Order: sequence, then C-alpha cells, then structure tokens
Amino acid sequence: MRVWSHADHPFPLPDGHRYPLSKYRLLRDRIIADGTVRAADVLAPQPISWDALLSVHDGAFLDRVRAGTLGRRETRVLGLPWSPQLVERARRGTQGTLHAARDALDGQRVGLMLGGGTHHAGRASARGYCLFNDLAVVTSVLRAEARAQRVLVVDCDVHQGDGTAELLGPDGGDRDAYTLSVQCERNYPARRIPSDLDIELPAGTAGPEYLRALADGLAVATRAFGTPDLVLYLAGADAWEGDGLGRLALTMDALRERDELVLDHCLALGAPVVVTLAGGYPPDVHDGVRINHQTVLAVRHRADHAAALPPPRPAS
Ligand SMILES: [Zn+2]
Repeated sequence: MRVWSHADHPFPLPDGHRYPLSKYRLLRDRIIADGTVRAADVLAPQPISWDALLSVHDGAFLDRVRAGTLGRRETRVLGLPWSPQLVERARRGTQGTLHAARDALDGQRVGLMLGGGTHHAGRASARGYCLFNDLAVVTSVLRAEARAQRVLVVDCDVHQGDGTAELLGPDGGDRDAYTLSVQCERNYPARRIPSDLDIELPAGTAGPEYLRALADGLAVATRAFGTPDLVLYLAGADAWEGDGLGRLALTMDALRERDELVLDHCLALGAPVVVTLAGGYPPDVHDGVRINHQTVLAVRHRADHAAALPPPRPAS
C-alpha cells in the first residue's frame, strides 16, 4: 500500500498555535518505524496546478492567495498566517488527496492522504485552517478525466463540512455528489451550509449513539444515492473525547469502529474510498498521532485484502 504525505513541507506558525503541524511528521515517522507502511511507499505530492484549483475556486480569491493579498478579515477567518509555504503546502495537500483517490480507483481500493479533508474552504473563501477544498477539487479533476463522476462525501470531522456543502451540496445543484456530514450540533461553524444529509449530535454524545447515527446516515445515503464511483471519507480525529475543540465523547476504540464502519460499508458496495485525516486538536499531539495511526491500520488492512472485495463498477 502506498500513501501520501506533505509532512516535509511545513509552514511558519506562531508558538502555541492550535494547528497540529508537528503531528503529520510524527505520524509519518511512526507508520514507517513500526512497519505499517514502507518508507518507499510514503510519497510526497507535488503542488497541484492553479488550473485545477481554478476549476472549483474563484479566480480573484486564488489571485489573493497566490499574491499574499488576502484581507485582514479573510486571514482571520482562515485562522492561519499567510506565507508562501502555507500556500505550497495546501497545494501539495490537495494533490496528495488526488493521488490517493487515484490509488483507490486504480486497484488499491482504499487510498490514503496523511492530511487533507480541508472541508471548510468554500468557492471564494478560506476558512477554519482550510485554504483549498481538496474534496471538491479532486471531484472536479476526476470528472474532467472521466475517472469518476458520482461521489459520496462521508465527513466525520466533528465540525460541519460547510465548504464542501457549498461546493458539492444540494444548494449548488450538483446531482452527482452526495454530502453526508456528521457533527456536534453546538460547534464551529456557526453558519451551516446544508449538506445532503447533516447529522447533528448533541455535545457529549458517546460512541454507541454516534455509531448508530452514522450507520443510519450511511444507510440513508445509500438508499438515496446508490453506489458512488468514489467515496471521499474524512476521518476527523476531533470527535475524540479528549479533543480540545470537539465536544463529543468518543473513545479511541469508538473512533476505530467508526473508521471500520465507513470503510466496510462503502467497500461492500463496491465503491473505492479515499481517506483524508481532517481535524484533530488534542492537548497532547501524540494522542492525535494515535488516533490517525488507527485509521492508517484500518486502511492498510483493507488495502491488503482488496482482491477479496466485491469488484468496483465502471465509472458512471
Ligand atoms: Zn474539525
């Protein structure tokens, strides 16, 4: 199995900033050290082309991102200080999700980007640590290549996928995308943009209720949308009980069960799955590494048994 990592392309952050920049390198090093993935199979994506970004994002917005002329309010909403390195990393991250999606379509059946899931970025706005929306960009590129047309987003980051809903959700009229977002109801972002299916969970919701709601949501999505050409799964670590921003109460075991539930549901349908890590803000970054490591193991196990999975359907 090969995976994608932009860990060697950090960006400047002020001391004490909540964004877990060090986690991506720690995770990459750990999965190599313990043999989960061979070093040669952890690949660094190049920056995605501006043309690919332009197929989803507003041109004037991209010009400001590129030139470093985002307004003060835009930068505050993004939550990260602008730098050329930040832009390059976001481009590499988006390309990484695209490569991982191709891995899933090309026979690995499950692809993995050790990052990505930047679901708050909208057409003309960077929000909540998300500069570009990798999920929408990947969808756009794969459609242009006729590799995949109908996509299902399963967003299990604890925050609502407002940018993804803006770009792929029902209000935009994209009938070939279905967005399912499972989140804590009293959490960022304050202004929701409706997904095809939003599951709003009360603060303090624990694993059993969460997993029941998620299973129900997957069943509803499948009844409504059938088998997609590709599933984009956001395995957010921030639904963990110890997360600094999450407000839900899932144990690490429950998060592992969540990953297995989503992967097994989608793979049983015959749909390839690309996995992104999305958010996670535990006070100790090593807890974030532990949660993401579980996700890598779940992906590894399924990629190893890809030959035994139901065959994927040709792209619709
Ligand atoms: Zn989040």
